Amino acid sequence: MTPAYQFPPDYYKKSLEVLETSLSLSAYRPWRESDPGPSYPVDARYAALPALTKDDIRAHFPDGFVPPDKDIKKGLESGEINFVQTSGSSSSVRVTNIWNQRWWDASERASWRLNSHTARLATGDQPEAILANARNVGFISDDADLPLEKRRLSRFFYLNEKTDPSRWTPRIMDRMLRELDIFKPAILEANPSLLAKLCRYAAAKPGSVFQPGLITFTYEYPSSLHLRQIRRVFTSPLASSYGTTETGYIFMQCEAGKFHQNTGSCRVDIQPLKKEHGGPDVGRILVTTFDNPWYYMLRFDVGDLGRIDEKQHCPCGRDSGIIIAAIEGRFINATLDCAGRLVTLRRLDESMGGIRDIDEYRLEQSAPGVYNLHLSSQRRDRDRLGREVKEKLRKVYGKDADISIVYEDFLCPEDSGKYCLAKTLFPLKIEDYLDAGRVSW
Ligand SMILES: [Zn+2]
Repeated sequence: MTPAYQFPPDYYKKSLEVLETSLSLSAYRPWRESDPGPSYPVDARYAALPALTKDDIRAHFPDGFVPPDKDIKKGLESGEINFVQTSGSSSSVRVTNIWNQRWWDASERASWRLNSHTARLATGDQPEAILANARNVGFISDDADLPLEKRRLSRFFYLNEKTDPSRWTPRIMDRMLRELDIFKPAILEANPSLLAKLCRYAAAKPGSVFQPGLITFTYEYPSSLHLRQIRRVFTSPLASSYGTTETGYIFMQCEAGKFHQNTGSCRVDIQPLKKEHGGPDVGRILVTTFDNPWYYMLRFDVGDLGRIDEKQHCPCGRDSGIIIAAIEGRFINATLDCAGRLVTLRRLDESMGGIRDIDEYRLEQSAPGVYNLHLSSQRRDRDRLGREVKEKLRKVYGKDADISIVYEDFLCPEDSGKYCLAKTLFPLKIEDYLDAGRVSW
């Protein structure tokens, strides 16, 4: 049964407006034959349409997504918009998008209401420290270390200027910890794997670390291992802020731990997976943006799987929009068990989280039933560690899983700047796992 969602009064009006404008644009023109038409309810019209992919964006950028009353050349000249490139995990997934700063800021502000800590701390001029890969945001300087004043931008302060965290020396990490204390950010926005690396270093040293009012996670799936390493050093509240360059801020994790839809900024449709692959509670997330006059994203496939909260109820009391119990990770980070059933990153990660003292891992599935686990750990009892890991993984993947373990001193992020926790080395197509007969919105 489709859970009963509650939406703000103008949600359907906006859904309809975006739908009709989008279908008049050249990128979506072929979609019109799938649209059952205005006599059908808005949800049914959305459900009948395809999903927008990064390939579609590349094929029709930029004119296909901009209404005729907007002049791209003038928008670029006036600085109202610019083009930005996202850093995909390979050149094939790199995409150029239209960036509208005013719309982005409004989307971010709307998301702050969904967590009581951001509602209190995010005033619009709060000092914010960012610990991210310099490839994703901030200033890049791999050889020379940049002084503090060269890593500031209005209210933001970038702790890291390197593209590869294996370049972090003790001196750089001491500097980061010292600068947190100098800058005293209200909010620390962090890529979880990088903050975990800093915390592994800080936990082994005497002395206290400045505690920001809130730590928000972006860029990556926060692994249970990373969260545990971060918790050794920080007592600050933690929240995941979930969004993409294409769609702005989509979900915010509230203080009770569930994810609330940013209904002021976007429409979300969730397409359930087949039952044997985790559906109907788990599905892929499609996002339609509201109120961005420069860029019409209709049913954009953000690439992640989400778990719908069964009861659509959260102890925090917020009830507007879809409530997600958990982000299950990106589809490209899903693997298959020995019977060919989908294993989401979250399911694998929860299992790995049960093993103590692992710094990092990456599971690569090379063929059906064959898994290579790259592991970085300070533990000396490798025979025992290996047995523990294989036992955990066989519970997830099946007793016949062929598992080999490769020990590493450290693991590096991918070209995108993000760590990869799991992947198959053969292609998977999401369409093979979606329940085509089911509709959910
Ligand atoms: Zn909540």
